[in-house]
Amino acid sequence: MYDYRRSVPSYWEDTTESDNDEYRPLAGDEICDVAVIGGGFTGLSCALHLARDFEIDVRVLEAGSMGWGASGRNGGFCCMPATKLSVEQLIHRVGLEETQKFYRMQLDGMHLVRSLGADENIDFDLQGDGNLEVAHHPSRFAGLTTHAETLTRLFGIRTRVYSREEFAETHHDSTEQFGGMHMDAGFALHPLRFAKGLARAAAGRGAVLHSHSLVRRWERESGEHRLVTARGTLRARRVVVATNGFTQEGLHSEFDRMLIPAISNIVTTRPLTVEELARHRWQTQNPICNTRTLLFYYRLLPDNSFLFGARGDITGSPQAGERMRAWMTQRLGEVFPGWRDVPISHFWRGLVCVTRKLAPSVGRLEDDPSVWYGFGYHANGVNTAPWVGMKLAQEIAGHSGDSMEIPAIMKGLAPRFPFAWMRRYALGCAYLYYRWQDARG
Ligand SMILES: Cc1cc2nc3c(=O)[nH]c(=O)nc-3n(C[C@H](O)[C@H](O)[C@H](O)COP(=O)(O)OP(=O)(O)OC[C@H]3O[C@@H](n4cnc5c(N)ncnc54)[C@H](O)[C@@H]3O)c2cc1C
Repeated sequence: MYDYRRSVPSYWEDTTESDNDEYRPLAGDEICDVAVIGGGFTGLSCALHLARDFEIDVRVLEAGSMGWGASGRNGGFCCMPATKLSVEQLIHRVGLEETQKFYRMQLDGMHLVRSLGADENIDFDLQGDGNLEVAHHPSRFAGLTTHAETLTRLFGIRTRVYSREEFAETHHDSTEQFGGMHMDAGFALHPLRFAKGLARAAAGRGAVLHSHSLVRRWERESGEHRLVTARGTLRARRVVVATNGFTQEGLHSEFDRMLIPAISNIVTTRPLTVEELARHRWQTQNPICNTRTLLFYYRLLPDNSFLFGARGDITGSPQAGERMRAWMTQRLGEVFPGWRDVPISHFWRGLVCVTRKLAPSVGRLEDDPSVWYGFGYHANGVNTAPWVGMKLAQEIAGHSGDSMEIPAIMKGLAPRFPFAWMRRYALGCAYLYYRWQDARG
């Protein structure tokens, strides 16, 4: 999972023009004001905003190519929320006002993605006019209806609930479709084109980007940071940690045991024919999640290929990957039996980031305020990570502008996980429990 030299065998890679690794690796001794570690949505948006809006001298160090991490290989759902806490749990923890602020941030993140596309001329194949959630079991429909009502009442998000029959008539049918909800927020996009577009925009505004520049050591010397890669050293006054699920232990002691990297997996089919689409009455361009805790997420791509994603596997080994591919192919065929024999064109996976507070961590270190961080989007970073990158840039520059403060639930680090080695097994146990719970309905 951490072989940064390996290109990702994704549908997105095959449908994106190569940038021929235009960002040279760091070499020799270099210096800058702000060094960003990680070239995904968080790091690239931070660099773009620092360079474009504040003319700050910024460099990005990325271990792979730009967007190599989760940003260039996700499902492309610009959706919400970036937390595993329910609305009720959020209100219990931070109160109604802060919960509303968090949801407002989630909507602002979606607007930001759209405007970055327009302002920076990034063509990321925008699709759809909202997000859909589907009850995977009859018992989940009532909860979906209540959730839709909550989203409208508390956060002003327009929703519409459909019975099973109505949903089949207007969106799609499947063996796990027992009614659905349309949320008038978000859309779908091509994530790798978005990441590469952000990189180009940041570089065009003066940020210096270095791909294939894994930070191996981080030293502190006479008031400055020294980030050491295989071939160079970058000295910086301030550092932004934007490594999310790919953060490895030992990068900086403050981030050790801070997160669980969880694997998310995706298969895509070859383009479906009109006749095949009709087998499931497929009529929507919107991205769809179902109500499983270990959710299935799926969408139709612009060329009518079908993308189907799922959580699972705790080892990340190639053998486990093969088993995951087989399991997902089987599950896709069970949920959409009309497509059982359609060949799979791509399988890939990546790491999402879970924190102990089950919500993002954004801020600066108390013991060293020259270090900033943003991570922990709980597999919901397409709208959240660019916003966090922008917010970090504004805070670093000391100009919050008109944008809102960081919502309380996202502020600061979460408590550490007690034992690093136990995290994987704890996750495995949670998966078993959720599978059992999801199957019961
Ligand atoms: C399969 C999959 C499907 C997903 N689907 C969705 C979805 O549909 N919608 C959604 O909202 N979210 C989705 N997500 C989550 C979303 O992709 C992430 O939340 C988001 O991309 C995080 O962006 P980031 O920039 O913080 O991290 P990343 O994009 O992961 O970037 C971190 C970067 O840091 C680099 N790095 C790590 N260590 C070092 C180091 N020491 N030195 C230099 N570089 C380093 C890595 O190479 C990596 O490129 C999905 C994730 C996965 C894996």
